[in-house]
Order: sequence, then structure tokens, then C-alpha cells
Amino acid sequence: MNSLAGRRALVTGASRGIGAGIALALADAGADVAITYERSVDRAAAVVGAIEAKGRRGLAIQADSADPAAVKRSVDEAALGLGGLDILVNNAGIADFGPLVDLPLERIDALLNVNVRAVVLAAQAAIPHLGRGGRIISIGSSLGVQVPAAGLTMYALTKSALVSFTRGLARDLGPQGITVNLVQPGPIDTDMNPADSEMAQMIIPHTPLGRYGRPEDIAAAVTFLAGPSASFMTGSAMTVDGGYNA
Ligand code: NDP
Repeated sequence: MNSLAGRRALVTGASRGIGAGIALALADAGADVAITYERSVDRAAAVVGAIEAKGRRGLAIQADSADPAAVKRSVDEAALGLGGLDILVNNAGIADFGPLVDLPLERIDALLNVNVRAVVLAAQAAIPHLGRGGRIISIGSSLGVQVPAAGLTMYALTKSALVSFTRGLARDLGPQGITVNLVQPGPIDTDMNPADSEMAQMIIPHTPLGRYGRPEDIAAAVTFLAGPSASFMTGSAMTVDGGYNA
């Protein structure tokens, strides 16, 4: 199914994990895809190779989401390299847990800068490139809705900020025909949250489907939101969590 044929996408933080799954799914649906990464040069190159093997254009851009200038540069480079931009997927994110009282300023700043400020700045940089039918999709978290344990405060705060950001920006950009939506994953098996960890053994019994999800589960929701079938959806949050928040 080539519902995204001719569309040009940027997926942030897509050298591995959920972002890589999203980049490959968008390419499968016919899009040309640029990705950003922070450190994983080889893995980013492998994702681009896989995009190109599907007959699509791929582009890897090194850009630290914590650096405002790099975020803007990455959006402009993606638009230049792909000949325009139709879809921005804000996926890059970091997790950091612990009691608030123990979190030093640098770790609080890192969470806010990568999980919130970079999303705001990437959207701001992308808006001038997006035409009617443009899409801004961000990756939040089921923890942005419910906080089921101690030690998650700051991470949950960064993800719940994306709910109001999505709603507000949907109102700002609706008249331009650009939709803005949020996908909120539950536990997904990646380097950030491996399905064989000790924490996973605590999470799985509280998940109705009794297992972790895969990056492809989130990529399917993003591909739907990026495509023409979702043209009347904006300002929404889709939770894809195996029922964890049910
Ligand atoms: P991973 O840690 O497995 O992968 C993170 C990706 O983001 C990598 O490609 C990494 O690049 C990139 N990245 C990290 N920091 C930066 C940065 N400062 N600048 C640019 N790129 C960066 O994470 P996941 O795939 O698990 O998570 C993806 C998103 O989904 C995040 O926003 C996360 O909060 C969210 N999420 C994840 C859940 C899960 O259970 N896995 C659940 C709910 C939400 P590099 O390889 O170069 O380091």
C-alpha cells in the first residue's frame, strides 16, 4: 500500500528503536525519509540503507536534539535533501528516572531540552516547509497520562507537556490544513526499555495483553496518522500500550 507515495518525512532519533521502526514503515508506505541521530553513525547508516533498499530516498543527519541550532539545521537539511517536507515525526527522547529530590539540574535540563524543547523547536522550524496536508506527529508516552509508580515524575512531566502542545498547535495550524497528533506508547521493547529487564517483569503483569509491544506497533499508528485516512484527525492522542493505562 503506497498511501504516502511522494511524501517527504523527517523522523527524529531514528537510528534505532521506535524511531527506526517508524522510518522504515513510512518508507514502506512510499515516503522518502530523513532521520536524525545523536551518536549511532553506523546504525543510522543502516536505517538509511534499508530505506534506500525499498526504493525510497533516505538521509541521515547527525543532530543533538538538546542543541537548538542543530534541531533547526536538521529540519532545514531534511527539507533541502528531500526537496521539501510533508511530515515531521518528533520521536527522539530520553528517559531518566529517580526521586525528584535526587535529580541534579543537568538531568532535569536534559529531559526538558530533548523531550520538550526539541519538539517545540522542530515543529517551529518545520511549519514554514509544510503545505496543506502537512503532518506533525509526536511520540509521547502512556506515562504522560497516568503515572503508576514513584520516580517517574520528570519524565512523565515531559510527556504530558506534549498533550497540550499537540492540542494548541492543532488549533494554530488547522486553518493551514496541517494536522498535529500525538502517539503515546506503553512498554515497547527497545534499548530504552528492554522486554527482558527486571523492570519489565513488574510492568508485564499490569499490561492486559501480557507482553511488551514492538516498534512496529507504534510505527503502524504513526503511518496511519501520516496518511490520507487520518485527514480529519487533529489535536488527538492515540495510546498504544497493550492496555497498560486501561
Ligand atoms: P531508544 O533509547 O531505544 O532510542 C532512542 C533514539 O533517539 C536513538 O535513535 C537515539 O540516537 C535518539 N536520540 C536520543 N537522544 C537524542 C538526542 N539528544 N539527539 C538526537 N537523537 C537522540 O528509545 P525508544 O526507541 O524506546 O524511544 C523513542 C521514543 O519513544 C522516545 O521519545 C521515548 O520517550 C518514547 N517512548 C518509549 C517507550 C518504550 O517503552 N520504549 C514508551 C513510551 C514512550 P542515538 O542512537 O544516536 O543515540
